[in-house]
Amino acid sequence: MPSAPSVRSPLLDRFGRVHTDLRLSLTDRCNLRCAYCMPAEGLDWLPRTELLTDDEVVRLVRIGTMRLGITEVRLTGGEPLLRRGLPGLVARLSALTPAPELSLTTNGIGLARCATALREAGLSRLNVSLDTLRPERFAEITRRDRLADVLEGLRAARAAGLAPVKVNAVPVRGVNDDEIPDLVAFAVEHGYRMRFIESMPLDAQGAWDRDRMVTAEEILDRIGERFALTPIGREGNAPAEEWWIEGTDSVVGVIASVTRPFCGTCDRVRITADGQLRNCLFATEESDLRGLLRGGADDAAIEAAWRASMAGKGPGHAIDSAGFRRPARPMSAIGG
Ligand code: SAM
Ligand code: SF4
Repeated sequence: MPSAPSVRSPLLDRFGRVHTDLRLSLTDRCNLRCAYCMPAEGLDWLPRTELLTDDEVVRLVRIGTMRLGITEVRLTGGEPLLRRGLPGLVARLSALTPAPELSLTTNGIGLARCATALREAGLSRLNVSLDTLRPERFAEITRRDRLADVLEGLRAARAAGLAPVKVNAVPVRGVNDDEIPDLVAFAVEHGYRMRFIESMPLDAQGAWDRDRMVTAEEILDRIGERFALTPIGREGNAPAEEWWIEGTDSVVGVIASVTRPFCGTCDRVRITADGQLRNCLFATEESDLRGLLRGGADDAAIEAAWRASMAGKGPGHAIDSAGFRRPARPMSAIGG
């Protein structure tokens, strides 16, 4: 007989932070090769047998929502649209009780074909990564000539009613930092919500260079050259600080993980595509939930392992200090 769920209590760590937001990676594979993320030749992808199956994903999310108070699930990767049967998986997750709010982070390739199906399956929000509006530059950054597909995907997402569609850009000095105001203007014109992310030392090649990272302060200065901004602050525990773009009905957000870390209010937990629980993006240790799933553990045992991992979460990542240690996995294999 299946064990009865324990009384739902929050997923706490020893600093009193409550974790309600699950970032779930569906694959480590990708069809782009963004230079700040992975090398041109790609990576050694996980063998398929190591990836969580749809049944395993659904079971973990059910444990998260029923027993641990997870309320939001963001599907990511690698490139999550490469996961076969994604709308079917989204439909299964949105049919859970209680159902999590479901969102997706994607590079937008192939989105034009599936945006409506994802919306109908229960997806409520979407982030699309886009670092430039210039085709040649897009091909240089991502090593693929696919800008038109991403723009088409964005239009399809908006038409499907996936609002707000957020556009994420990682500015890199000397590469696309001159386009910051253009990206804001593009988002305002098309009704997307622009967000800039400070680049982090999570690329697979280990080539991150702090001097090439464009800081939140610089990003705001660049936007300020063309637009007047009024600060709004953060929405709940969201990582982005937001500003109203005066004279428009748009806001712009900046995620300053390096220069203004928000670890004190972090409410996130991550599960990799191969079922490893990470209590922090920068964690150097993982808990093997897939091993428990495949070893026949019941829900209570998985809940206990999950809670134990969160109890061990550190206070913060200290990227900007000398003692910082990179995690062994790059961003694409953790799930951004
Ligand atoms: N492939 C999807 C995409 O690009 O949106 C989802 C996975 S990707 C790892 C998630 C987010 O992480 C993207 O917005 C991407 O720009 C960002 N990202 C990747 N590498 C990064 C890095 N080194 N620093 C900051 N953000 C990074
Ligand atoms: Fe792929 Fe996303 Fe990494 Fe770009 S940032 S290479 S789209 S996983």
